[in-house]
Amino acid sequence: MKSRIRYDAGMSKTGFYTHSDCLRHDMGRGHPECPERLSAIRDRLLASGVDQGVVEFIAPLADTDDLLLAHTPRLIETVYELNQEVQDDISRGGRGLAHIDPDTALNGHSLSAALRCVGAALSATDAVLAGELDNAFCAVRPPGHHATRSRSMGFCIFNTLAIAVRHALERHGLKRVAVIDFDVHHGNGTEDILANDERVLMCSTFQHPFYPYCGTEDVPANMVNVPVPAYTAGSEIRQLMARHWFPALEAFQPEMIFISAGFDAHREDDLGQLGMTEADYRWITEQLMDLARRHAQGRIVSCLEGGYNLSALARSVEAHVRALSGL
Ligand SMILES: [Zn+2]
Repeated sequence: MKSRIRYDAGMSKTGFYTHSDCLRHDMGRGHPECPERLSAIRDRLLASGVDQGVVEFIAPLADTDDLLLAHTPRLIETVYELNQEVQDDISRGGRGLAHIDPDTALNGHSLSAALRCVGAALSATDAVLAGELDNAFCAVRPPGHHATRSRSMGFCIFNTLAIAVRHALERHGLKRVAVIDFDVHHGNGTEDILANDERVLMCSTFQHPFYPYCGTEDVPANMVNVPVPAYTAGSEIRQLMARHWFPALEAFQPEMIFISAGFDAHREDDLGQLGMTEADYRWITEQLMDLARRHAQGRIVSCLEGGYNLSALARSVEAHVRALSGL
């Protein structure tokens, strides 16, 4: 994707981070978290012309020190050991697929893909904090928000977003960071990693009761969790966000906003039963940009999480990136 961008008034300088390794992570035929998700997004951005409004970057690899910002050494060892088993199996002519849980597996490219996800989010954070970009979207997979400090699960290997948040706090010295998660599933991993960190306010909506079946009891003080019953319309979800998220975010005055951008709450996505549409994703993005402009010098880094209906995913990402770039 080549940018031939002209910056008109009202446009943002938006980074688009991805890597071809993220297309090679493949958990087997029929798995909804499939490489075609990223191809569909790229096609849609090209067809709609939204690619003209972003600057593309190739994601670097993260390293172990980056992973340790949010994960235990044991989790990292487990993933690297599993990757070694996969590589050994491939060299013996095997299929090279090892499961972490029934839904989550590594192939020969998964570790690289997961490290590119983290590298994307960290580079995007650095560029936004340096003022080189206004905001950024990381079109990466595997997703991350179910990975806890000590456990990969639910299609997720490392918690990309939580690592980037910790990077902003620990290495850039930010004092207040907001995390937004509008994926249909509760971001239990991000909650686990960032719970009770007073420098973080996390606001989320998620279908409940639903996988991973948590987020409603013993909610940490820095979390604004808004569980939503199945078949709730996008307009109702907007009202819940306006009532629960935005007053808390205004009071918190974040210096930067991170978005766990899952699009599986779309009404056409069969993995969940919520009623979001592209217009709702555009609305949320614009609300967050308005908040970021007032408190956070416009600084937003958004990372792809879920979204499994390829057409709905691609249209929703287009709406999100179109809003981020001010096109
Ligand atoms: Zn999800």
